[in-house]
Amino acid sequence: MTLTFDPHEIAETLYHGQFCPMFIDGKDVPALSGEVIDVVDPASGRALATVPRGGAEDVDAAVAAARRAFEGEWSKFTPYDRQEVLLRIADVMERDWEKLCVSDTADMGLPLARTMGNKRRVIGMLRFYAGQATALHGDYIENSISQSMVSFTTREPVGVVGAIIPWNAPTAASIWKIAPALATGCTVVLKPSEDAPLTPLMIARLMQEAGVPDGVVNIVTGTGREAGARLAEHPDVNKVVFTGSTATGKTIARAGVENLKRITLELGGKSPLIICKDADIDKAVPVAAMAVYAHSGQICIAGSRLFVAREIQDEFIEKLRDFARGLKIGHGLDEGTDLGPLINAVQTEKVEGYIAKGKAEGARLVTGGGRPEGDGFAGGNFLEPVIFADVTDEMTIAREEIFGPVISVLPFDTMEEVVTRANATPYGLAAGIFTRDLSTAHRTVKRLKAGSVWVNMYHAIDPAVPFGGLKMSGYGKEGGVEHLQAYLDTKAVWIQT
Ligand code: NAD
Repeated sequence: MTLTFDPHEIAETLYHGQFCPMFIDGKDVPALSGEVIDVVDPASGRALATVPRGGAEDVDAAVAAARRAFEGEWSKFTPYDRQEVLLRIADVMERDWEKLCVSDTADMGLPLARTMGNKRRVIGMLRFYAGQATALHGDYIENSISQSMVSFTTREPVGVVGAIIPWNAPTAASIWKIAPALATGCTVVLKPSEDAPLTPLMIARLMQEAGVPDGVVNIVTGTGREAGARLAEHPDVNKVVFTGSTATGKTIARAGVENLKRITLELGGKSPLIICKDADIDKAVPVAAMAVYAHSGQICIAGSRLFVAREIQDEFIEKLRDFARGLKIGHGLDEGTDLGPLINAVQTEKVEGYIAKGKAEGARLVTGGGRPEGDGFAGGNFLEPVIFADVTDEMTIAREEIFGPVISVLPFDTMEEVVTRANATPYGLAAGIFTRDLSTAHRTVKRLKAGSVWVNMYHAIDPAVPFGGLKMSGYGKEGGVEHLQAYLDTKAVWIQT
């Protein structure tokens, strides 16, 4: 990607250590406590900005604003009005796309080429749900009781939505939650991750510019234990849509029990990618590598269990190793960077702990795992991409979500065996298979227990195609028409004619 702008210069104009307030009821506000959280560039350790450490009382203020807007001005917007607002948001975000991507990259490290490549998942998502805003409908039902009775259904917005997102894709995660909420007439209180809160704050202000009334979209920054927990349990929040770890997802499901919130959970994974002996190896190698190394492995769908047919294992590992060693590690804002930093020091040490465990449990380290040296890496959380071979299903690195640039290669002998092993995980987010045989592809797709399955590819996501996990990877879908239903209540109406 050749850039026509200087991303470091844009980052400097956006963030130079200043205070970025929350956005509640259309206004910039600090936390009522006055406390702040430092936001740090994970590639350099440099302070980017501070944001308010919002607490329960800030969440309460945001929920109250969202309720007022839901019952007030926003309720007067027709589907056509909401469609227009969504289209205007898409336009202003497209206008500022470079800034938004620079902000995301500065905040959480993902290489700029990747944040910029998310355009269809963000702008496309807004336009997709803009289209859906005027296509909402109930059903006329021919009841079997009496011809003098008419029965039909209407679909109504659930109300105030609490959205809680992780740090690894702040722009996409925000829009995936806000767009369907606005299309259906809901209002939103969004809590970004304390590790990457900056871009959602920018997005909320762009939404105001696009004509979103005050109180319809509110952003409360803060920690999970304080602001997140209050949002999850709040008695006046009707629905929570959450993306994050399975452990936090369980806490959120429990917190929502008191007022029986509707809940959508997009959680963790330990996804299998199967390379059959007839696979096109040269096509499969870069895909298998980037199925993990994109986001430096910090991606929920990481194809971190790489099952390779024993017959082609040696050739595959050799090519995968050469590919991994050829990747350019660096600051996400530097041109040509393939692999950015991990989000923070704690995460980096956690991944190093998994690498040590892999070695201790008998896996063979083929490449990577060290911290790259040199000036460009000082202060950052960088790790060289890792490949482990001779991994067995029982090893910790084959069972637990690492959320780092670690690929475990597991050899297999038969399709029957590999499908059983691929499914032997509590997770069920995604899976992939590389084969030239159509029958093998179809048979395997049918048996893999995963919310998304890719054949001869990995990682495709589209606004119109539902995305979401099975088993401990959560429930509910994001994207697609299906996702709208999670923001709507159905009302049955009977009329005696
Ligand atoms: P996390 O669960 O630690 O945090 C996610 C969000 O939840 C943050 O905003 C955090 O502040 C908040 N939170 C933490 N504790 C909370 C609590 N008790 N109550 C309410 N909110 C709370 O996850 P993370 O480390 O930010 O992200 C990594 C995880 O997210 C991985 O497990 C990854 O697989 C998952 N993820 C899933 C998807 C998906 O679509 N399935 C996408 C991206 C990331």
